[in-house]
Amino acid sequence: MPQAIGYAAKHSFSRLRPMTFQCDDPKAGEVEIEVLFCGVCHSDIHQAKNEWGNTVYPCMPGHEIVGRVARVGGSVTRHKVGDVVGVGCMIDSCRACEPCRAGEQQYCEGPNSWLATYNGPMVPAAKSPDGQNHYGRDNTFGGYATRIVVAEDFVLKIPAALKPEVAAPILCAGVTTYSPLRYWKVKAGDKVGVIGFGGLGDMAAKLAKAMGAEVTVFTRTEEKKKEAARLGVSCVPESDKDAMKALKNSFDFMLSTVPEKHDVNPYVQMLKRNATLAVVGALEPLAPENNMERAMHRKSVAGSLIGSIAETQEVLDFCAEHGIGPDIQVIPIQEINDAYRKVERGDVRFRYVIDIASLRAEEVEAA
Ligand SMILES: [Zn+2]
Ligand SMILES: [Zn+2]
Repeated sequence: MPQAIGYAAKHSFSRLRPMTFQCDDPKAGEVEIEVLFCGVCHSDIHQAKNEWGNTVYPCMPGHEIVGRVARVGGSVTRHKVGDVVGVGCMIDSCRACEPCRAGEQQYCEGPNSWLATYNGPMVPAAKSPDGQNHYGRDNTFGGYATRIVVAEDFVLKIPAALKPEVAAPILCAGVTTYSPLRYWKVKAGDKVGVIGFGGLGDMAAKLAKAMGAEVTVFTRTEEKKKEAARLGVSCVPESDKDAMKALKNSFDFMLSTVPEKHDVNPYVQMLKRNATLAVVGALEPLAPENNMERAMHRKSVAGSLIGSIAETQEVLDFCAEHGIGPDIQVIPIQEINDAYRKVERGDVRFRYVIDIASLRAEEVEAA
């Protein structure tokens, strides 16, 4: 069993610090991955600080993982030693329920739902209908680590055209925005609105544009107009009430990427008849919705969670094919606590990606 090192939080109030742990040998059907890069997702911060009330400590976050296959267990056929591969938010699911059989593991209805890359099963034993944990693991450690072992079916292939550090955020931010764009069948010529222009909004705008849609991003500030222009999309600051009013009943689809409670009513007004606004950024209650506006034009407000394993592979291939990817800033892991503070302060439009070589250096020092 190789020793590995990662950065973890011991309590909700503590900073992330180095922690060594025993990494299992890959069993049949599993691959061991030497992590190269790991993206920093806003949910890593929510989890490390127990802001969703479900954190298992120690908490070693990271679910935007790109690495190289170091070893494979028996009967592995999809990946071989040396392949550059990715791991997103899920590392297993029940594989038996209806969503799993339909290939939508992110909506797994098994007793413990899916097994998250870090923080263990989505439904822990205490909250499962039979009081059991069928995965046999209460906690899992994510990609802020030198290595990880994952079932081969949940490991993605990173196309050669994508730099590994650029591919990392596609595994969560990319698929979270790609899945709803596909599910609600966004096509060339559609008018798509993207609410919020942070890490998720940036990916949503790029993906929708590559699908041929006419994209408008809605931002809190004027500052991001230049960024929008660079991407070739329109930008409307929320404060511009006249511009907001002029867009009434005009969008085929809207995607809200705002990572906290917000008022969707002004945006529901902008949907066309029969159209949907999908919320992917916030998991908390939204401001009360005005049903008159929805009923009068048969509009929908919906939710969507990450994406399936098949869609994750699709969005990686789509980004490689269209030459798009997130804007990133690579940091050494020693700067992670500082990066968290900056993300929390708001509106870091690029994605921080940790260079795990900086962690491997600590491993060598510790040995
Ligand atoms: Zn994420
Ligand atoms: Zn399932």
